[in-house]
Amino acid sequence: MAAITRGRKLYEGKWKQLFETNDPARLILRFKDAPAFDRHVAPPRVARRGAMKNQISAALFSELQSHGIPVHLLERVGDRDMLVRRLEMVRLEVVIRNIVAGSLVKRLGMEAGTPLPAPVLECYYKSDALGDPLLNESHVSALGLASLEELKAIREMAYRANGVLLPFFADREILLVDFKLEFGRHLGRLMLGDELTPDGCRFWDRDTRERLGKDRTRRSPAREAAAYEEIYRRICA
Ligand code: C5P
Repeated sequence: MAAITRGRKLYEGKWKQLFETNDPARLILRFKDAPAFDRHVAPPRVARRGAMKNQISAALFSELQSHGIPVHLLERVGDRDMLVRRLEMVRLEVVIRNIVAGSLVKRLGMEAGTPLPAPVLECYYKSDALGDPLLNESHVSALGLASLEELKAIREMAYRANGVLLPFFADREILLVDFKLEFGRHLGRLMLGDELTPDGCRFWDRDTRERLGKDRTRRSPAREAAAYEEIYRRICA
């Protein structure tokens, strides 16, 4: 097969770029070190963030794939670049929660850090204009985002992913508090897409309960960088 070459940029978001390749069924996903609007005013808060995200995402997707969960990852093709299958994305953000944190504290009035008796699954509509509202199954149908069969498959895959990732993180003395998944269709088959990195997951140190990786509340770049390095070391080293 001919070597893969990078083509036209298809999409640019805050933290990611997506490029076409010479193969219409494959894309290159590039992780950025800093959001575009920060680049000219400050160096990245976390050095080599893009490269660490690329390796973390690849490690977690590989773990899921080795347990039979289909993923878009094909291979890492550069420091910040990942070759992926081209997907038609389902406009849902699927969140799995094992411990109460974040928006669930307010929604259910439960104390942060409370273990949930069973994992909680939530679907949010990917819509910036609407602020990503929480959806139930009939909303998903009403919006035509996925069929009932697809939604059932998405829920099953999300719970299975949680079942694979919980022991993976426990081995690394990490609590997998909650995380966000996105799904897409490749040749009619549903699979996991997007990324699995500290930017879409809450990881707490098992003993100190310190957040590892991204932190929305702590404004110290040095501490954020150290926490990112720590999660990278535990997953990839
Ligand atoms: O903020 P909330 O508690 O609802 O987030 C739940 C989980 O989903 C967190 O791990 C967060 O990082 C992730 N999330 C995300 N992108 C969003 C919203 C939430 O990755 N737009």
